[in-house]
Amino acid sequence: MIERLEAKRYVERKPSSGDKRIKLLYLTKSGAVLLREVMPFVDRAQARMLQPLKPTDRKTLLALLDAAGRSQQRVLAGAAARRRRSRPSREKLMAQHNERPVLIAGGGIGGLAAALGLAQKGIASILLEKASALGEIGAGIQLGPNAFHAFDYLGVGEAARNMAVYIDQQRLMDALTAEEITHVDLGDAFRARFGNPYAVVHRGDLHGVFLKACQDHPLIELRSARKCWALTRTAPR
Ligand SMILES: Cc1cc2nc3c(=O)[nH]c(=O)nc-3n(C[C@H](O)[C@H](O)[C@H](O)COP(=O)(O)OP(=O)(O)OC[C@H]3O[C@@H](n4cnc5c(N)ncnc54)[C@H](O)[C@@H]3O)c2cc1C
Repeated sequence: MIERLEAKRYVERKPSSGDKRIKLLYLTKSGAVLLREVMPFVDRAQARMLQPLKPTDRKTLLALLDAAGRSQQRVLAGAAARRRRSRPSREKLMAQHNERPVLIAGGGIGGLAAALGLAQKGIASILLEKASALGEIGAGIQLGPNAFHAFDYLGVGEAARNMAVYIDQQRLMDALTAEEITHVDLGDAFRARFGNPYAVVHRGDLHGVFLKACQDHPLIELRSARKCWALTRTAPR
C-alpha cells in the first residue's frame, strides 16, 4: 500500500535526522491534498467500526491507539539515539583497521578481489601468497554479467572488459553424438536484459587486472613467498 502511494507520489521516504538508516515517510503536497479528501471517509469508517462498542470501551481503545503511536515514536527516537552513541566514527574505524590490517591468505582471484573490496571501504590489508611470485596459470574462465557488475564495484570493470572476448551463443552439446542439445543466445537482448555481457577471458589475464589494481592501491600490501600455517581466533565470535 505504502509503495503504491509512493509510486503515485503521495508519500516520500527521507532519512531520519538521527539515524540515516531509518527512512521516515512524509506526505508530499499531492499526498496532503489526497489525505484531506479521504479523511472524512476514514473518520466515518472508524466511527462505524467503533459504533458497536460501549462508550467507555471506545474511549479506552482510542486512548490505547494514541498511546501506541506515541510510544512507537519514542522507541524509534531512543533506538536512533543509542545507535548514535554506540557507533564509532568512520575515521576511528579506519584507524583501528589500518593499525591492524586484515590478513588475506592466498593471492588468487579471490584473495585479490577481497583485498580490493576491503580497500573500497577504506580498510587496509596484507595479502600473503605462498608461491614465490603472484601469478595465475590455467585456462579460460567464463564470466556472467554478474561478474562485470562486481568488477565495476571493485574498480576493475573497464580493464576486464577491454581484454574479454564476447560470445554470442552458449551451446550445450551431446558428448557422444556431437549434436546440439540446446543453446542460449547471448547477444544484444541478453546484454540489455542483464546490463552486462557474457564473456570469456584467460584466467591469467583476469588475474593480471586484479593484480595491477592491488599493486596500485595504497591500502594493499602484497607479499609473496609467505605461507600461512595456522589461524588463531582471538576476537570473540
Ligand atoms: C576446471 C575449473 C573451471 C572453472 N571455470 C570457471 C568459470 O568458467 N567461471 C568461474 O567464474 N569460475 C570457474 N571456476 C572456479 C574459479 O576458477 C575459482 O572459484 C576461482 O579461481 C578461485 O579463486 P581463489 O582465489 O579462491 O583460489 P585460487 O585461484 O586457487 O587461489 C588460491 C591461492 O592461494 C594460495 N595459497 C594456498 N594456500 C596458501 C597458504 N597456506 N598460504 C598462502 N597462500 C596460499 C595459492 O598458491 C593460490 O595462489 C573453475 C574452476 C575450475 C577448477
